[in-house]
Parts: sequence; C-alpha cells; structure tokens
Amino acid sequence: MIDILTGLKRFQTEVYPSHRELFAHLAANQQPRALFIACSDSRVVPNLLLQAEPGDLFLVRNAGNIVPPAGSADGGGTVASIEYAVAALDITDVILCGHTNCGAMKGILHPEKVESMPHVAAWVQHATPARRAVERLFPEAGETDKLERTVEQNVIQQVKNLLTHSFIRSRVEAGRMELYGWVYDIRSGTVRGMDASGQEFSEIHFEAHGSPDEKRMLRELEADEEFWERL
Ligand code: ZN
Repeated sequence: MIDILTGLKRFQTEVYPSHRELFAHLAANQQPRALFIACSDSRVVPNLLLQAEPGDLFLVRNAGNIVPPAGSADGGGTVASIEYAVAALDITDVILCGHTNCGAMKGILHPEKVESMPHVAAWVQHATPARRAVERLFPEAGETDKLERTVEQNVIQQVKNLLTHSFIRSRVEAGRMELYGWVYDIRSGTVRGMDASGQEFSEIHFEAHGSPDEKRMLRELEADEEFWERL
C-alpha cells in the first residue's frame, strides 16, 4: 500500500529542490513535446515509460484510451483536452497508447462484466468496432489472444477516431502532425507500434544511433495513401 503523505513529503523535501530550476521554468510555461493518450490503468505510467520530465507530456487518460469520434455526445473532457493540446499548445506528435490486459477491452469482449457499471458499459461502446474487427479477422482466436488482438484493434480504431476531428485531420493531411499507435506490453516492457499498413503491430526497436523505428514507420504510414483512404 502506498503511503500518500510520505510520498508527498519526499517530493517536497527531496525531489522538488533537486529540480528547482525546471519547476521555476514550468511555473509560468508549458511547451509539451507530445500528446500521450492512454488508459487510466495504474500500471501504465507514461512519464516512466518515456522517461519524460514534468512539462514533457500532455496526458489524456480514460478507460480504454478511447477518443470519441466527432459528433459524439460524450466526447466531453477527452476531446476538449485533445483540442487544447493541439490548438492551444501546438503539439504535433500524438501517441495513442493501449496496453495488455486492459480491463476496458475485457469489458467490450464480455459486456456482462460491466453491466453493473452503466457509465463504463456506455463508454466502452466506442471500442465496439475493435471487437467486430477481431471477430472478423481472428475468428479462431482463443480468449487470451482475442484480448491481445482487441487491444491492438482498439488502438487502430481510436487513431481512426482521432482523424474524424477536423482539427486533427487537417494537420495530418498538411503534414504538420504525426500520429502513433502503440501497445505497451506490461509483461515485458516492450512497445509494439502500428505499422505502415495501419493493420499490423510490430515491436519498436532502436537503431544503433538511437533513432527509433517508429519515426520510420510513421513516415511510411503517411506515405501510404491507401491507409488514409481506408479510414
Ligand atoms: Zn486499460
């Protein structure tokens, strides 16, 4: 069990003083390098995963890393936060990150598990196209594999949903924004990135000089006009 007040005391007495300059700068400014859309799951810690400092990542989190499409009645705080990150903060790198063993994806696969939670049940409906895609593409998948595939298909679906918003789509089409679809594997610490086809995921590796593969994959994705036409 974490001790909340002990953690706060340690932050104030040890961590904050050792980063005083950074926090002084951040007191009046933020220029985040990326928008990171992730699940609320406690095991997903974006700043730890990317080794990012305060001020680096603009976070949007909810059950299932869902982005309601344009026109949804429940876009609310999620879409407003994304709009702010893009329009007010000029963020141009957007990472949509799902994760293994996601409870929200279990909820879309097994509606009976969330029927006593009407808000959750309604929210995860935004992942219904992911469940249908898995049923279509992997009809023989066993339970564990089906969940893994649903996590991936949900990332694909939520990237598509991002593109239904004109403030995203116009920037992507103009080459001023890059979208990444990731799946974080809690068991191994690895991350799989959506590849050029927009349908497959492969592990992100790093080249010798440290340039991540995902930049290359993204360029391929942008160059693949068929992908955008399929959306
Ligand atoms: Zn989750």
